[in-house]
Amino acid sequence: MANPFDLSGRVAIVTGANTGIGQGIAMALAQAGASIAAVGRSSMDETEAMVTEAGARFHAINADLGTIAPVKRIVAETLSAFGALDILVNNAGIIRRADAIDFTEEDWDAVIDTNLKTAFFLAQAAGRHMIEKGRGKIINIASLLSFQGGIRIPSYTASKSGLAGVTRLLACEWAAKGVNVNAIAPGYFVTNNTTALREDLDRSTAILARIPAGRWGVPAELGGAAVFLASSASDYVHGTVLPVDGGWLAR
Ligand code: NAP
Repeated sequence: MANPFDLSGRVAIVTGANTGIGQGIAMALAQAGASIAAVGRSSMDETEAMVTEAGARFHAINADLGTIAPVKRIVAETLSAFGALDILVNNAGIIRRADAIDFTEEDWDAVIDTNLKTAFFLAQAAGRHMIEKGRGKIINIASLLSFQGGIRIPSYTASKSGLAGVTRLLACEWAAKGVNVNAIAPGYFVTNNTTALREDLDRSTAILARIPAGRWGVPAELGGAAVFLASSASDYVHGTVLPVDGGWLAR
């Protein structure tokens, strides 16, 4: 029987693949056999070395995802580099922290634009190609803030709650067209995104005390969920937001 998790011959776009969760997911998809189009505004050299070492093909696409200007080019460049596009991982994201009472319009717009607007329009651009082919997998990187309120991150919570909603909407529109749209909600992972939290002794102690697994996650631990949602193993999975959180939401 063929391995339903095998991604040989598949092509994946991963945004924000230079570091953290995006790099971990790019590696997992590469190890499962996918070619990687790594999209971002920083050097992809480290990820390129890791992916090619794993025996997968790699192409870097330089793009600032703070606006939707590059979305059509990203899809076109992927198709011209690899001749296919099967998987999109909308991972790039930012966070701005301040009390709601002081939160600025600039911090609102920057986070919503990157985390929600660009993710939607990149899904639309990739979705047009996938619908034409009758097959595709879109994975949005959501958050525990897709389920909970949090504190001091109003635009981040709005963006991740919105992304969960958009995941469900796209699944409803595209499931019958052969395109699976799902999301992964990481719990607390050790990346640049959480440096400020981990450096705040009170917050990090409180967070750790609530995680049933008793520790923060590391990006490689999201690989299994990403490969599952990118592969034919998940062909009947549509519109779900899959927590990978050490048990946080079960608490
Ligand atoms: P990270 O290390 O800060 O990575 C964020 C990635 O997004 C980086 O590659 C960053 O590129 C990229 N990015 C941000 N703005 C961009 C822009 N305008 N153009 C292009 N790329 C841009 O944090 P991370 O934890 O791996 O975050 C990845 C995703 O996981 C985010 O969507 C985040 O919200 C989500 N998440 C993280 C956690 C966690 O605990 N860490 C939990 C839940 C969800 P640069 O390096 O160039 O800035």
